[in-house]
Amino acid sequence: MQNNQTELQIGDRFPLTIKKIGINGEGIGYFKKKATFVPGAITGEEIVCEVKDIHDKYIVGILHKIRKKSPNRITAFSDLADSVGGLELAHIKYSEQLKIKKDILLQALERFSPNGYKYYKINDTIGMDNPLNYRNKAQFQVRKIDDKVICGLYQHGTQKVVDLPKMPTQASLTMSIILRLKTILEELNIPIYNPEEKSGIIKTIVVRESQAFKNAQLTFITNSKKLPRKRELIEKINKEIPEVISISQNVNQSTGSLIWGEETTLLWGDKYLQEKINNLTFNLSPRAFLQLNPSQTKKLYKIALDYLDASANSVLYDAYCGVGTIGLSLAKNVKQVYGSEIISEAIDDAKLNAEINNITNADYRVGTAVNIYNQLIDEKININTLIVDPPRTGLEDDLIKNIIKHTPEKFVYISCNPSTLAKDLRQLSKKYIVEELQPIDMFPQTPHVETVVKLKRK
Ligand code: SAH
Repeated sequence: MQNNQTELQIGDRFPLTIKKIGINGEGIGYFKKKATFVPGAITGEEIVCEVKDIHDKYIVGILHKIRKKSPNRITAFSDLADSVGGLELAHIKYSEQLKIKKDILLQALERFSPNGYKYYKINDTIGMDNPLNYRNKAQFQVRKIDDKVICGLYQHGTQKVVDLPKMPTQASLTMSIILRLKTILEELNIPIYNPEEKSGIIKTIVVRESQAFKNAQLTFITNSKKLPRKRELIEKINKEIPEVISISQNVNQSTGSLIWGEETTLLWGDKYLQEKINNLTFNLSPRAFLQLNPSQTKKLYKIALDYLDASANSVLYDAYCGVGTIGLSLAKNVKQVYGSEIISEAIDDAKLNAEINNITNADYRVGTAVNIYNQLIDEKININTLIVDPPRTGLEDDLIKNIIKHTPEKFVYISCNPSTLAKDLRQLSKKYIVEELQPIDMFPQTPHVETVVKLKRK
């Protein structure tokens, strides 16, 4: 078949001017009108692109050479960024990263064009003063090569683990715990998982730190219920890593891509890690979700609570509530809080969190956001204030239908994915005015964009 790309072959090179940055942080230019994605290239740069893949609608390229370099290009962490994920924008000045994030949001709105999007008030992205060492949780794969334990992230597009003695976005306590643990695992010769031979025990280490209490929760994700030399391991951790106050084991025998298994057992110490947000204390069990960037979380919640503008007669539904952080921050100012979440441990934590903070007007239920909303409606509960904070897939279709039907007066949408946000706003903007959008940088150096949206019933 003839088309205008017939001649183009993998490995070919052509000059390309980068026009914008895409949702995965790649530079985008146009080769004979066909979008060409080049990781590592920056807006305004003139490059030589080498063809890696040719698809119907787009080309994937490799940055072969830069002919005209962007003044926003920096060289920090470039070796690391080439091998592992999480540093897709690290080659770009931070002030420019913040502009890119706002632009990614704009691009998504243009693509899905919800009602009135051209007139939306979109604020500049709120950044961090120091956009490094922010991640309060490290979830690192463990392997063993020639008697050395390695611990880190998968190499781009492979199942090969890259050892990470340093990771610039990780909070320093998480890294220093990982390093001490590696030595302990080696010294005690604890069996490490080997995916090729399907042998060994420890697959993944998860370390989550508490910024408020300067201590940490450790979970070993293992290939079996067994954990040889468990007692010695715990004793050594107690002695050499006193910051660890809680040690659990989660068993995941599957070979799929899911990190966590269903079964978690406390091996030693406290059942929960405690963190403080907005003057409340939150208990976290190992699997429960907590925002990964504590200092930006405070800003995120502040904006969300301002936008929500709840009052004494608000009946709030906090859908996708995690351990209850948002609803409980508001509980004292509203009549009643309801929350839903599919992870039952998180709901147990949310209930306990209400109790330890002396909150008696919060009701947490395990279930999907839409099912619990239906339950509340069946119980004739009049939800007049709604906050949603869904995963990257956005809102469930039936939840959107329900929102449109019952139209709670005050509504805030926290989104971690501009594409699904813009898609959901197409529906929601039929019944709601989009008053303001505030992008906030929860994940510096990555292309992730978090947005808080204020909606008002028409
Ligand atoms: N608002 C919380 C959690 C946000 S993350 C906070 O700020 O900490 C999204 C949460 O939604 C996760 O805890 C996830 O387990 C949960 N979740 C995922 N799918 C869901 C669904 N269909 N219904 C309800 N909760 C869901």
